[in-house]
Amino acid sequence: MSDPTAAAAAESPSVLAALVAALRGGTIQVVDLTAPLTSTTPVLQLPPEFGQTAVFELEEISRYDDRGPAWYWNNFRSGEHTGTHFDAPNHWVTGRDLADIASVPAGRLVAPAAVLDVTEEAAKDADFLVERAHIDAWQDRHGALPDGGWLFVRTGWSSRSGAQDTFLNADESGPHTPGLSAECARWVAEQTPVIGLGVETVGTDAGRAHGFDPAFPCHSYLMGSGKYGLTQLQNLAQLPPTGAVVIAGPLPIVSGSGAPARVLALVERTGQPS
Ligand code: MN
Repeated sequence: MSDPTAAAAAESPSVLAALVAALRGGTIQVVDLTAPLTSTTPVLQLPPEFGQTAVFELEEISRYDDRGPAWYWNNFRSGEHTGTHFDAPNHWVTGRDLADIASVPAGRLVAPAAVLDVTEEAAKDADFLVERAHIDAWQDRHGALPDGGWLFVRTGWSSRSGAQDTFLNADESGPHTPGLSAECARWVAEQTPVIGLGVETVGTDAGRAHGFDPAFPCHSYLMGSGKYGLTQLQNLAQLPPTGAVVIAGPLPIVSGSGAPARVLALVERTGQPS
């Protein structure tokens, strides 16, 4: 005799029951887009006249010893913008009166992603900038950017994330990492329906963006438009151009400007399940 619950589900399958079945069966896979958090996770470095963000640090409280014989635990210290993290609108002066990280609606934390691949361009030119024409070409091929979703820019930069110097890629003229032009940043922020921009680099702006007009245009325009940033993403090569669903979980730090986040993507595998 068949399981009546299973029979009922088969008759009238709920979307969530179908999701659970697809996850268990491997037709939907979970891709972890998050960089591991350690004391060597790269962090942004500003010119010395500015305040600096902290690297991630663990402080052991006890480890099955006289400080706590049966338990292991740590305190940690971290910047809000250390490692894979979520930028809230109030991170930038243009969004100073807008949402803090704890006020980002939970419904925004689960959203589709469009993935623009500029890996080849970024490999040839560390200062490569995405222009509106690149996104227009993507839309011609894949359809409109997702309303209420993310624009992810895949650059391959996460392959450098094991070391601060290669990740920041700075010389005497400053950091050299790919990003968006000021014009493109403004267009994404003000004219497209996405909720934010996700990148593989240390911040949403290009390495040279301190010299753009305005300086740091992705931060300036996105935060000023109430939009978000996701940085230091990994494994974007495992995402299709469209169709992935991203779950971004920043810590709800009340009044905070951002937070380290576990970022996952649900990806449908149309070929052989693995
Ligand atoms: Mn940030």
